[in-house]
Amino acid sequence: MITAEYIWLDGNSPAQLRSKTKVLTDDAPGDLMPIWGFDGSSTKQAEGGASDCVLKPVMVTPDPIRGGDNLLVFCEVLNVDMTPHASNTRRHCDEVEAAYYEQEPWFGIEQEYTLIQDGRPLGFPRNGFPAPQGQYYCSVGANNTFGREIAEMHLAVCVQIGLKISGINAEVMPGQWEFQVGPLAPVEVSDHLWVARYLLERIAENYGVSVSYEAKPIKGDWNGAGAHTNFSTKAMREEEGYIEKACEALGEEVEAHLAGYGDGIEDRLTGDHETCSYKDFRFGVSDRGASVRIPWQVAKEGKGYIEDRRPNANIDPYVVTRLITGTVCSRL
Ligand code: ADP
Ligand code: MN
Ligand code: MN
Ligand code: MN
Repeated sequence: MITAEYIWLDGNSPAQLRSKTKVLTDDAPGDLMPIWGFDGSSTKQAEGGASDCVLKPVMVTPDPIRGGDNLLVFCEVLNVDMTPHASNTRRHCDEVEAAYYEQEPWFGIEQEYTLIQDGRPLGFPRNGFPAPQGQYYCSVGANNTFGREIAEMHLAVCVQIGLKISGINAEVMPGQWEFQVGPLAPVEVSDHLWVARYLLERIAENYGVSVSYEAKPIKGDWNGAGAHTNFSTKAMREEEGYIEKACEALGEEVEAHLAGYGDGIEDRLTGDHETCSYKDFRFGVSDRGASVRIPWQVAKEGKGYIEDRRPNANIDPYVVTRLITGTVCSRL
């Protein structure tokens, strides 16, 4: 007997993760995991009178929480007629990826998050505030770094099951961390990011800690949480002259992108904490005050990737990677 933890995205905005367990009694599940279903009226995905929604497996990994031969089964949501459910943003991302397949778009997403206990971030005292920001980013020591055990455990299990995590670091606000996923193609980086988010919440649960992807968890002079999205195409990576062109392409679709860059973007992109106001669009070399940063090594070599600093921590990566792929690849 093994268990398969079926994971999917619900109908909230931003979408929340849901999961439930299927006990598999057959000897071996084989390559194809069975289709399953759930009550969409409990997840904002259906009305009570026609509540069934379908879970179609799209990525299977070992389950590092239960261990052994147990599995995680990440799913997309379909209607009972097997068409994509209205909440299924993965399909649209997949279509755009297919349209620009030859350009080989790659994404690396920097997922920032805040660990919360008793209604406040780890490292925040019961009353008042911790010392101002400055000492926490990439820090070490119990007076600077809060929640490392969770971040480390998360990194270890992600690597163990084959998710493409490229690093972690403590962030600017106490209790705030980041992990990076990629570089991978649009749908794949998004699948990996969603499963990595699931595992983070699952691990933090064991500590009585919750994970917030809120864009601005603490009002005032405290950093927000983003999901900087790094992007390249084969031409950008291998030939000179495409980096600026890609930045200019993003400048032509500012409104459409902001609409898909996460909940509460005006609260985070005030212009006061790195990254300029959402009302401005500019790109620049090494400029962390810009909307889009060209890393210095990339400027030097004339090729590589660009960093869109605008997306919020609470993005749907299927939406963000779809927007960037469509906007840039159609103009390069
Ligand atoms: P920062 O200096 O902004 O904190 P990080 O090291 O946190 O940068 O993140 C860099 C991100 O860039 C990683 O997610 C990595 O996967 C991604 N990346 C690296 N090379 C490429 C590339 N060619 N195309 C797209 N993304 C890339
Ligand atoms: Mn980073
Ligand atoms: Mn960061
Ligand atoms: Mn960054």
